[in-house]
Amino acid sequence: MKKYCLPAFLLLVFETVAISCWLALDNIFYLFNFSYIGCSVALGVFLYIKNYKNARRVAQLLIGLYMLIYLGFIGNENMQIEGFWYYLFTGVFEAATIHYAVAKIFGPLIFGRGWCGYACWTAMVLDFLPYKTPQQPRKKIGWIRYITFTVSFIFVALLFLVGATNMERIMFWAFLIGNIVYYLVGIILAYAFKDNRAFCKYICPVTVFLKPMSYFSLLRIKCDKTKCIDCGRCKKVCPMDVDVTDNSRKRKNGTECILCFECVKNCPKGAL
Ligand code: SF4
Ligand code: SF4
Ligand code: SF4
Repeated sequence: MKKYCLPAFLLLVFETVAISCWLALDNIFYLFNFSYIGCSVALGVFLYIKNYKNARRVAQLLIGLYMLIYLGFIGNENMQIEGFWYYLFTGVFEAATIHYAVAKIFGPLIFGRGWCGYACWTAMVLDFLPYKTPQQPRKKIGWIRYITFTVSFIFVALLFLVGATNMERIMFWAFLIGNIVYYLVGIILAYAFKDNRAFCKYICPVTVFLKPMSYFSLLRIKCDKTKCIDCGRCKKVCPMDVDVTDNSRKRKNGTECILCFECVKNCPKGAL
C-alpha cells in the first residue's frame, strides 16, 4: 500500500490547489482544471507503479493535449511565457499566471520539473522523436534560454508601451505562432544534436523559472550508496544528463531532472 502514497500525495496537492482556486476566485473552472491535471498526473505515476512502460507518456498526452487544444486553441488562453507576462502586466491573477505559479514557479518546490516530464505540450511532441537518450555530449549553449526569456518579456512590454489594441487577439496569435516555432526549432535541434530534449536544455525560456525553483524540490531521485555498484547505467539512460548517483542538491545537471524514472527503471540493483 505504501507504494501508492506518491500518486495519492500528488492528487491531494492538486485537489488542494483546485479547491483553493475555485473558492478564492469563485470560478468552478479551476476545480475542473486542476482536478483533471491532478488525476492525469496521479494516473501516470500509478501506471508506472504498475509497471506500464508508457505510463509517463499517458499523463503527458492527457495533460499536454488538454492544455494545447482545449485551453489554447479552443479557450484562446495563451499559456506560453508571453501569456504569463501579459496577465502579469494587466494585474489579472488567472489563467496563465495561475498556471505559471502552480506548474512552474511554486509547484517545482514540491515536484521539481515534473511539469517537463508529465505535462508540457512541447516535450509531448519532442518525446516522440528517435533520440530518447542524448547521442552527443551536452553543449555549452544553455545561455540561449536567457535570450529567449528576455525576448518574450520585451515583446509583451513593447505591446503595452505602444498601446496595442486587441491584445487578447495578439496573444492568441502569439500562442499559435510561438508553438509552431517551438516545435520546428525543437525538432531541428533534436536531429542536429541527436537529442530529443535539446530544446529543453538550451532554448526553453521557462527553464529560467524552473531550474532555480526545482533546486529545492521536495521530490527527488536519491541513490542508496550501499546498493550502487557504479555501473553507470542510470547516467546512460538519463535524457537530461543528470548525475543521479550524487545525492547532493548541487549534483551535475540536478535542476534538469524531469522525474521520468528511466534511471530507476534501469538500475540493476534497485539503488534509486
Ligand atoms: S524545458 Fe520547456 S519545453 Fe522542455 S519540457 Fe520543460 S517547459 Fe517544456
Ligand atoms: S533518468 Fe532519472 S535523473 Fe534523469 S531525468 Fe529521468 S528521473 Fe531524472
Ligand atoms: S544504475 Fe544503479 S547501480 Fe548502476 S550506477 Fe546507477 S544507481 Fe548505481
